[in-house]
Amino acid sequence: MTLRDLKAGESARIDTVGGEGALRQHFLDMGLIPGAEATVVKFAPLGDPMELRIHGYELTLRLDDADRIEITGLDKSREGASASGAELPAGSGTGAGGHTRAGAENAGRGRRPRAPHPALGESYAAGGKGKERTPAFPEDHIYSFALVGNQNSGKTTLFNRLTGANQHVGNFPGVTVDRKDGVIIGQKNTLITDLPGIYSMSPYSSEELVSRNFVLDEKPDAIINIVDATNIERNLYLTMQLLEMERPVVIALNMMDELTGNHGSVDINRMEKMLGAPVVPISAAKNQGVDELIKHAVNVAKYQIKPEKQDFCSEEDHGGALHRCIHSVSYLIEDHAKRADLPLRFAACKVIEGDQRILAKLAFEENEAAMLENVTAQMEAERGLDRSAAIADMRFDYIGKVCDACVTKPAESREHARSGKIDRILTGKYTAIPIFVLVMALVFYLTFNVIGLWLQDLFDLGIHALADLTDHAMTAAGISRVLHDLIINGIFEGVGSVLSFLPIVVTMFFFLSLLEDSGYIARVAFFMDKLLRRIGLSGRSIVPMLIGFGCTVPAVMSTRTLPSERDRRMTILLTPFMSCTAKLPIYAFFVSAFFPGRGGLIMTGLYLLGIITGILIAFLYKKTLFQGEAVPFVMELPNYRLPSPRSTVQLMWEKAKDFLHKAFSVILIATIVVWFLQSFDIRFHLVQNSADSMMAMIAGVIAPVFAPLGLGDWRVCTALISGFMAKESVVSTLEVLFDAEGGVAAVLSPAAAGAMLIFSLLYTPCVAAIASIRRELGGKWAAGVVLWQCVIAWIAAFVFHAAAGLL
Ligand code: GDP
Ligand code: MG
Repeated sequence: MTLRDLKAGESARIDTVGGEGALRQHFLDMGLIPGAEATVVKFAPLGDPMELRIHGYELTLRLDDADRIEITGLDKSREGASASGAELPAGSGTGAGGHTRAGAENAGRGRRPRAPHPALGESYAAGGKGKERTPAFPEDHIYSFALVGNQNSGKTTLFNRLTGANQHVGNFPGVTVDRKDGVIIGQKNTLITDLPGIYSMSPYSSEELVSRNFVLDEKPDAIINIVDATNIERNLYLTMQLLEMERPVVIALNMMDELTGNHGSVDINRMEKMLGAPVVPISAAKNQGVDELIKHAVNVAKYQIKPEKQDFCSEEDHGGALHRCIHSVSYLIEDHAKRADLPLRFAACKVIEGDQRILAKLAFEENEAAMLENVTAQMEAERGLDRSAAIADMRFDYIGKVCDACVTKPAESREHARSGKIDRILTGKYTAIPIFVLVMALVFYLTFNVIGLWLQDLFDLGIHALADLTDHAMTAAGISRVLHDLIINGIFEGVGSVLSFLPIVVTMFFFLSLLEDSGYIARVAFFMDKLLRRIGLSGRSIVPMLIGFGCTVPAVMSTRTLPSERDRRMTILLTPFMSCTAKLPIYAFFVSAFFPGRGGLIMTGLYLLGIITGILIAFLYKKTLFQGEAVPFVMELPNYRLPSPRSTVQLMWEKAKDFLHKAFSVILIATIVVWFLQSFDIRFHLVQNSADSMMAMIAGVIAPVFAPLGLGDWRVCTALISGFMAKESVVSTLEVLFDAEGGVAAVLSPAAAGAMLIFSLLYTPCVAAIASIRRELGGKWAAGVVLWQCVIAWIAAFVFHAAAGLL
């Protein structure tokens, strides 16, 4: 039997975990280990993926992946208890979500003092208590701290607290994608780095590798390990590995407000003893305990107080097979680890797990490698579990003991119960997708028709007023006509028209940040996964695509939340196919000139054409550029939370800043170039009629390319070129170059107008979008997008034009 065979509400004990390599390790690290008990909470409305509860938290798992996990069903009575959501009866240890074997063996609730167990791994723990300490660094040393923790544990919230920075916080796993540095407020010589969330020190995605390498290579003076107290079993899994890193560690137990609010508690002193490192309860969101945390962090960094314990295997557990294995391997590789500058205990575990990157660093000779393999194989035989599972099991085992001894969990937290209720509707079988459509429609309606539009008009008024004022001032001062023209018709028109989109972008992000911070987007990803998987993406890609209908710029920026580089690239390349709102004026212009009264039909057709082309292109990408599978969709589903106003405002400010930066760099330059080309002829004389300008010449050169589409007129070509600046300017250029709407109708046939619409829909995104693509993917990709989109658009328009001609 596999996990896939379970029905919603049923529980089972995991027997074996299939798969191989990093993927399997990832499953193990997420807590899917032999012996653990899992409950299927529900299936997504489309039947795939499933939501699973394990170790007291919820995660998503695709059915194909679930199929690799073999299980033994549990009897009905226990099932009932788990399915009702009472996963953690107060004080009864790890409970249904926990680790059954740990529970069974641990009848004494772990209160037995651990026998002193001096071994190699421990000798590295420096600095016992009561010793006279001297600072390990000179006075002016800059202390570096790394903020390490699971995704969604509150790292960024804490980072913002500590540094006063405005990093984006979100209730969506994977919000922090690259590292950010800052100085702790009031502690001048400190540097703290916010890292992407990781679940273990076995990197699974490239972002996770960033975090691991930071700890291994840059050797921060201390690690601040942020642990979500409401989800402590899973979070401590990473802690166990950080304690092996031979770096000073402070454990920040975050979200204590939620835990204590539900009458849970943690025996901090006991936990400190069991983990051998300082534990500080905090609430980053409420700013409680943060000062205390800083004090501890600075202290361990200053005196380089390393964790006192690394040895979490035990002689008694399962005959001590793993214990003997780890310690023998430690002895065997000690010289190599020292040479490779790797923490010994960490290296030993990685050698046993067979981590290729670490093995390469350690550079064993053939005999050594064979010997290590033999030791490990013997352990597997004695332990009855494979190497990776044995190590994961050892960690969860010890975590079980720590939690039994120190943590009183609430029966069911209010937040969790509330989330369950909300989820019944928002991810319900029949309600999920209709509600999603409604929510998105509402967001778009509010953004583009109500709030955003209103703000945009207001903003437009402001810009115009400013332009007028400048106009008058310059006229009064007798400024040269050319400069006057550049500023008013070039810069104010160009930059101003782009700037007027600022309110829409900010409003859009306001709503999206509400959705994301509340935890809803994580659910959308959950139930859209099945559809997106067909085109080679995972559920997480849905968000950027949706934003793409508004504007490609924020859509591309939002791909940062995607955990896999492959998915991120592919998503970025697909977002331009979602017809953005700036193209609406073009559609409206041609509909009224050529197809009056059929606007609705044509607009819908164009949007659909964009989506269908996007899907076809996605299939193409899947077969060529982006072969391989989308990353397995193992994602935590966090509880719903009320979005914090602070972080929402911060996000809006960040986006506004980004946008302004762009408007006054790339767009400003491009505007000036276009203005220049439109205003001068080849001998740099100011032209009266733009038909004599360089732009007209260039457009004349390009015109033959467009002739097969029926778009050979230089003015139409100019309009399309200026659309590269901003799609709206296609219409404004046409309006300038043709005196009346009838003028366009005179040079274009209806078939050509149709081709024009299709070409406008599909051809290169505007400069702003290309600039953001360049920022995310680099210049080559951005240039590629420009060319590639033009080719696709040309082909589509050509096919349409030819077909229309035949008919
Ligand atoms: P990261 O992924 O680790 O960077 O986590 P974030 O900082 O983005 O926070 C994840 C979620 O947890 C956000 O919705 C925060 O508002 C919330 N959060 C962070 N700290 C606390 C806390 O101390 N208490 C509560 N109740 N929520 C918190
Ligand atoms: Mg973060």
